[in-house]
Amino acid sequence: MDHSMYLAKTIHLAAESIQSGGGPFAAIIVDPNGAIIGQGTNSVTNDNDPTAHAEVVAIRDACNTINDFQLEGCTLYTSCEPCPMCLGAIYWARPKAVYFAATQEDAAAVGFDDAFIYREIEKPYKERTIPFYAYEINEKKRPFQMWEALATKTEY
Ligand SMILES: [Zn+2]
Repeated sequence: MDHSMYLAKTIHLAAESIQSGGGPFAAIIVDPNGAIIGQGTNSVTNDNDPTAHAEVVAIRDACNTINDFQLEGCTLYTSCEPCPMCLGAIYWARPKAVYFAATQEDAAAVGFDDAFIYREIEKPYKERTIPFYAYEINEKKRPFQMWEALATKTEY
C-alpha cells in the first residue's frame, strides 16, 4: 500500500473541490486489493447538506460500489483528520484503518474548529450549546422490543 500516493490523491481532490465551490476536504476508500472503491469531497454548501463531509460522502460511495453496509478490510484516506461526526460514521462503517494528512489543528487554523464538539460530548445534556432532553414517554422502548422479536432482521 502506497499511503502517500493515496493521500496525495485526496489532496488533489480537495483542491478540485475548492475550485468547484466545495469545501477544502476530500477522502477516498481503498479495498484490500488497493483499488479505489469510493471517493468524496466536502459538498456541504454546494448541496445544502451539513452532513456532506468528505468522509461521509466517500463511505456512501464505497458502500454503494460494493453493495454492503460495512467496509471490511478497506482503508480510508482523508486529506484532514476526521471531525466527530465522521469519526462516528467511520466506526459504523468499520474500515480497518484511517490515514489522514492535515491535522485538527491545521483545520482549526483556517476556521474549521471541531474541537468544541468533542468538548460538548463530555458535558451534561442541559449544559450543551444545543441542550439535549431525555424525555419520558410511554412506549419509548416499543421499537426495540419489535426489533428484538423480529426473526428476519439483518444484524449490524
Ligand atoms: Zn466530518
